[in-house]
Amino acid sequence: MKVSEQHFVNARLPLSGSTGYYKVIVKNGVYDSIDLQSGKVESPAYRAIPRDAFLAESVIGEGTKIWDLNGRILLPGFIDAHMHLDKAFSLPRVPNQSGTLLEALRNFGVAYGEIGKEDIKMRMRKAALRALSYGTTSLRTHLDFNVRKDRDVCFRTIYAALEIKEELKDWIDIQLFPLTMHESLGPKELEMVEEALILGVTGIGAIPHLSLTPEQDVDRIFELAIKYDCPVDFHTDEDDDPSVQTVALIADKTEQYGYQGKVVVGHLCSLAGMDHDIAASMIAKMKNAGLKAVTLPAANMYLQGRGDRGIVRRGITRVREIQEAGVPLATASDNIHDPFHPFGRGDMIQIGLLTGYAAHLGSPADQLQILRMMTEIPASVIGLDRYGLSRGNQADFVVLDACSVEEIFTFLPENRATFKRGRLIHASRLDHTWGVPIGGGEDEVFRNPCCCRFTQ
Ligand SMILES: [Zn+2]
Repeated sequence: MKVSEQHFVNARLPLSGSTGYYKVIVKNGVYDSIDLQSGKVESPAYRAIPRDAFLAESVIGEGTKIWDLNGRILLPGFIDAHMHLDKAFSLPRVPNQSGTLLEALRNFGVAYGEIGKEDIKMRMRKAALRALSYGTTSLRTHLDFNVRKDRDVCFRTIYAALEIKEELKDWIDIQLFPLTMHESLGPKELEMVEEALILGVTGIGAIPHLSLTPEQDVDRIFELAIKYDCPVDFHTDEDDDPSVQTVALIADKTEQYGYQGKVVVGHLCSLAGMDHDIAASMIAKMKNAGLKAVTLPAANMYLQGRGDRGIVRRGITRVREIQEAGVPLATASDNIHDPFHPFGRGDMIQIGLLTGYAAHLGSPADQLQILRMMTEIPASVIGLDRYGLSRGNQADFVVLDACSVEEIFTFLPENRATFKRGRLIHASRLDHTWGVPIGGGEDEVFRNPCCCRFTQ
């Protein structure tokens, strides 16, 4: 029987601002209604969730399926606004003994030409599907595009990425940004970027603070972006040195070219080391230019601050100040198990937790803000339409085995279910086996309390 309508009852929607229970109806892959219930609904029509099950469904009537979430959280799908799928899981092959950004760049630059297309595809698929399994329904990945290497090497990654994007398109949306690695962009390099745009990549990525001619490069990138009406995403000031202030140049050029709202600046590490007045003026420039920002706490806590002795910088940007100025700031994964960052698994809850630690965000309001930095804010940063829990939007969402925001970041629930356009794509459930008798039983230890013990 074809299921065209699904009801998700007794769901908690923390981003709604209410702690009550909701009923969410999805029809043909989009939200049809989202309504606050008057309380928890129990019905013989709903199959009670068995003790050892995370999700239970009942089929009632013609083509209608009911999911009783029993007080669990439903969030719009996580959006990972800054990844490097093509590098993910390359660490066993491309090591980094010192752990520095410089050695990572050097070693990856050497290995880059020897990594075949199927190898790239396999690791991209693995990273994207893992992210999806943790609840990410859309992501943006940068792609190495080392225009100093030969053409075949550059386009090998582009073709691999285009094929993976197509292969996974019904399950996860992937945006592609060739990341021009260069000392300065000349006509040949720009021609190659243009060719990648014609092939179908989403936008242009660059690292102007590593360029010998940043202003000229940024000009050329804006000219090309305008020609193809595509967004731009800069790795910006990923450096401890507070005199590195490329963000000011990017803000000025964004205004000059009238490109407000289409420019993303990621990292912004040097901002953390600047004098407060200078940092405030940089943030004001970002706001005036309509820049959108991404912080990458995992990779930057690992890579930055290595020259510091005594008080060691945390590596991430000024999260609170940027947000207080009204600049949208997402949090994202960056690298996964590669020479730039040996850890990570593409799990936005892990990244959210690291954001909380690194930026001192822990109050209930702060934790809610972290959730926004994993969902609504990155959706706006990467320009998604029809995202979020509103009627008519695409039903991309994740169900978590947690009943409050605090439980998400305390228990880091392994039990999750990811839905794309209303279709269950992946569900996971953690099993426990005790070899000894435990007092109180399994529920007392592992079941989060408010589901079972408290009523609304
Ligand atoms: Zn990056």
